[in-house]
Amino acid sequence: MPELPEVETIVRQLNKTVKNQIISDVWTDSSKNLKGKYSFRQFRSLIKGKKIKKIQRKGKNIFFYLDDDWVLWIHLKLTGHLLLGEYFYSKGRWQAKTARPLSDFNNGFIHWVFKLKKGKSLALSDMRKFAKIALLKKEELKKEKDIKELGQDPLKPSFKEEAFEKIIRKAKGEIKKFLMDQRYLSGIGNIYANEILWSAKVNPFKKIAALSKKEISQIFISLKEILNKAIKNQGTSAADESYKNIYGESGSYNKFLRVYQREGQPCFNCGTKIKRIKSNGRSTFYCPKCQKMNNEL
Ligand SMILES: [Zn+2]
Repeated sequence: MPELPEVETIVRQLNKTVKNQIISDVWTDSSKNLKGKYSFRQFRSLIKGKKIKKIQRKGKNIFFYLDDDWVLWIHLKLTGHLLLGEYFYSKGRWQAKTARPLSDFNNGFIHWVFKLKKGKSLALSDMRKFAKIALLKKEELKKEKDIKELGQDPLKPSFKEEAFEKIIRKAKGEIKKFLMDQRYLSGIGNIYANEILWSAKVNPFKKIAALSKKEISQIFISLKEILNKAIKNQGTSAADESYKNIYGESGSYNKFLRVYQREGQPCFNCGTKIKRIKSNGRSTFYCPKCQKMNNEL
């Protein structure tokens, strides 16, 4: 699933390309992605002719602000990604006019096409079809439970260590679960939670109550460092993920991954084999030596 660095990359690219463009039509063969009160027919007639004023991100949510206070809300979920290109419909499916990377296998599950007046289209490739699309008014968006409950954006320059400590001290349970809980911090998922904790040398299963002030401080530093570095590298396209940027390209943060999907490989710090523990369908990767439960920083 795209996390904060991937969604941030997408939003920056969208602002450079489709901002101020007009949506001339929309097509789908997967109306189950559409949430909210409108049928696809209503959605289509409402969105046709609307201009995209700006694109913003909150956590992993993408908001296209349109004319007349309308907002197109997209959450990419597991395998969704937005692609900008010229498409044509042939042999029962949408195909990119240009060759690679838009025509790559992972970019070929086109289930939504937003046609732009200037010629290109914004397409949604979504193999598993879990992406969420909704159209609503700005005022309504604010009242949406998923949005209202979203926690602090860890990338905000105003988000400082004191604020992080305040949030973390309010929480209970294990540190990794806390990092991924969107109600506390928005945007961190499994890849970066694993990476942040390895970098901070904190055991992922350690209880928040047992964390020292120094450990909390180190987690905060690692969190800022890793997320910013991941954005510079346009995110991570891991083996089992299908994240691509709007040009269909993979992110290049993969080469900086230290524990994620490195089970059995030597720790970059001490050489110990990286351990993987699976629970609730999610894998936790860590170094049993560098990230000992009773590590005292
Ligand atoms: Zn180690």
